[in-house]
Amino acid sequence: MAHFPGYRCSLCGAEYAPNEVQYICPKHGDMGNLDIVLDYAAINRLTSPESISASRDFSLWRYLPLLPIHPDTLTTLRGPNPSYSVNPFFSAGWTPLYRADRLAASLGLNASRVFVKDDGRNPTASFKDRASAIVVARAREIGAEVIAAASTGNAGAALAGMSAAVGHKAVIFAPQTAPPAKVAQLLMFGAKVLLVNGNYDVAFELCLQASKEFGWYCRNTGYNPFTREGKKTAAFEICEQLTITNYQLPITNWQAPDRIFVSVGDGNIISGIHKGLQELLALGWIAKMPKLMGVQAERSAACANAWRDGTETITPAPGDTLASGIAVSLPRDGVRAVRAVRETAGQYIVVSDEEILQAMPALARDAAVFAESAGAASYAGLVKAVRAGTVAPDESVVLVNTGNGLKDVANAMQAAGEATRIEPTLAAVRQAIHAG
Ligand SMILES: *Cc1c(COP(=O)(O)O)cnc(C)c1O
Ligand SMILES: [Zn+2]
Repeated sequence: MAHFPGYRCSLCGAEYAPNEVQYICPKHGDMGNLDIVLDYAAINRLTSPESISASRDFSLWRYLPLLPIHPDTLTTLRGPNPSYSVNPFFSAGWTPLYRADRLAASLGLNASRVFVKDDGRNPTASFKDRASAIVVARAREIGAEVIAAASTGNAGAALAGMSAAVGHKAVIFAPQTAPPAKVAQLLMFGAKVLLVNGNYDVAFELCLQASKEFGWYCRNTGYNPFTREGKKTAAFEICEQLTITNYQLPITNWQAPDRIFVSVGDGNIISGIHKGLQELLALGWIAKMPKLMGVQAERSAACANAWRDGTETITPAPGDTLASGIAVSLPRDGVRAVRAVRETAGQYIVVSDEEILQAMPALARDAAVFAESAGAASYAGLVKAVRAGTVAPDESVVLVNTGNGLKDVANAMQAAGEATRIEPTLAAVRQAIHAG
């Protein structure tokens, strides 16, 4: 399509036509993530913030003119029924942006300034649906029959779900330590599930090799340039929804918050959000770049370490944390994830597993959002940043919840504590209530 001229390597700047390469720049081994280049002048001729804000398509597909997917591809996937949400593939994204006044108050921040973007509300209950929807569309475009992905659980569940929605075949490689709820999801959607004896990084390598061997289209996060295109739609939504929330009518421009807090594993979400914001700036649809605040777990902090050391050389971390969604040794979008924070004058914040466990019930009680551990990590990061005096009370803050709490019940039970067990008598109820 006219507005997708090709790719540019994030390391050496080499440019490629849309069909010249498929995954990464051939010059740097397994590194060299490709940026998808779009023609912003062409996009501005095609659409505007007003026309998108008037759309009745309440999914990420409302941003189709800003995506490297041909409209005809969606028409074929949608089939003869012209309505918008014909299946879950067409309802990925457009998750709620909640105003969290009580959460703001508990942190000493001003009311109406703290928001939670709840991506646990996606069709398969994580942020990964955004990336998987775009990759499935791309697979259809290039005629790929089987899509494979390595995953800590959510990316695989999202690919399996989006594939089931449009009748595609998926093969998922996950570590054997993946939480049972996520494995159950993979199996339910009918994907071929391979639980690898090794961690996520081992599963990632195996998926690359197997995809080459068997000719599968590989969705691996960061490695496939289209995952980031899906993830950038969260930035579009945040800015569009902030405008609606603040009743700025007519909608001629969208509004950017001051800071966005997001947890970081491979770094593809933060890198995608950064790209989305850069595009809105380039289009002239927002007026400023928010500070991106990356949150990593203590022993899974390769991006945070590189940022702290002022380098773009990513050194693998041990990669273990109870937050399975961000348990990554070598982040596959590490360089762009470090840049996302550095170029927006944001920060990386490192949190302990203990702090993540405390964040889960706090977020659920003060904002009514039940996040999985990796999603609540962003809140743990906000708490730390506020305590350090980094966030001023009147700043507008968006916290991204990347996954639903039911994805990982074991950690949720550990964080929430025990329920009170009683005999079926009023006396027992009275005693239990008075005990607090
Ligand atoms: C994948 C994931 C993340 C991290 O995203 P990256 O792109 O790997 O940085 C955070 N939270 C949850 C719940 C995830 O599934
Ligand atoms: Zn290159």
